[in-house]
Amino acid sequence: MGVDQPLGSNFITTSLDKVVNWSRSRSLWPMTFGLACCAIEMMAAGAARHDLDRFGILFRASPRQADLIIIAGTVTKKMLPVIQTIYEQMPEPKYVIAMGACACSGGIFDTYSTVQGIDEALPVDVYIPGCPPRPEGLLYGLLKLQEKIMAERNTFGAAIGLGEVVSEA
Ligand code: SF4
Repeated sequence: MGVDQPLGSNFITTSLDKVVNWSRSRSLWPMTFGLACCAIEMMAAGAARHDLDRFGILFRASPRQADLIIIAGTVTKKMLPVIQTIYEQMPEPKYVIAMGACACSGGIFDTYSTVQGIDEALPVDVYIPGCPPRPEGLLYGLLKLQEKIMAERNTFGAAIGLGEVVSEA
């Protein structure tokens, strides 16, 4: 069957992957969770001046409603099991941002009690350098995560149990 009427501006054609990726990347809900000084910058990013809400990024108070955890601060070995429990309580698909030098590599705390990078325990999607990174740095990292999600393939298939998500980023 051919199209014999002009479609006008009311129709678009796209792939299912693009629609799913677009909706996921534009509705990231981070866990309300901070560990140290970097968390203050994370709070500033969510407040009025930087206003993460305009990107569809809304902090949630329960891991069961969150699809992103921002590791903002120093990760101590004592705190690591708690972080892992919170991560495991989040539903798939879920993403991790390591915010600041401490979360990326232990920062200045090369000590027996500090985890030397959260990637020892969780699969990090985006690393944000700095001590601390400014809210603009976190914002840039969130935009990079959106780009990464937009480059995923088979997102819908993976959601209904057909294969795995393939990341092209
Ligand atoms: S990176 Fe710097 S600002 Fe961030 S938690 Fe570590 S010491 Fe604090």
